[in-house]
Amino acid sequence: MSTGFLLPLLEGDEASEFWQGCARGELLVQVCGNCGRRRMPPRPMCPFCRSTERHYEATSGRGTIWSFVIAHPPLLPAYGELAPYNVIVVALDEDPSIRFVGNLVAGPEGAINSVDPTSIEIGAPVEVVFQPVDDVTFPRWMPR
Ligand SMILES: [Zn+2]
Repeated sequence: MSTGFLLPLLEGDEASEFWQGCARGELLVQVCGNCGRRRMPPRPMCPFCRSTERHYEATSGRGTIWSFVIAHPPLLPAYGELAPYNVIVVALDEDPSIRFVGNLVAGPEGAINSVDPTSIEIGAPVEVVFQPVDDVTFPRWMPR
């Protein structure tokens, strides 16, 4: 059964390994094999040294809210049913230049509209949780 959400490719894409990590409960970040700098989103070439050597490393899954928006209709039908919901940008604790876009949820099983939008604050500490949607496991964030 399809939920109607826009979902990433799980195979044959530069980010496939990232999504496979999420399915295992690991928040991975791509790391340059030459200069060692992290990058997100995954891409084939390092933006700092142009090396194509790369691998993934697990992260702490902890960060802070760097920015957020509250989505309101008009939206695609699957998303409109959940509006208003939040979309947050999280800066990773061990490397704040690495930022993830996701949703703040009230708990590990919480929906993307489970947090009162007026309670969201930039700088609030969060930690990752993993939620399946169709065949994909999404990293989402809950307060810590
Ligand atoms: Zn590099």
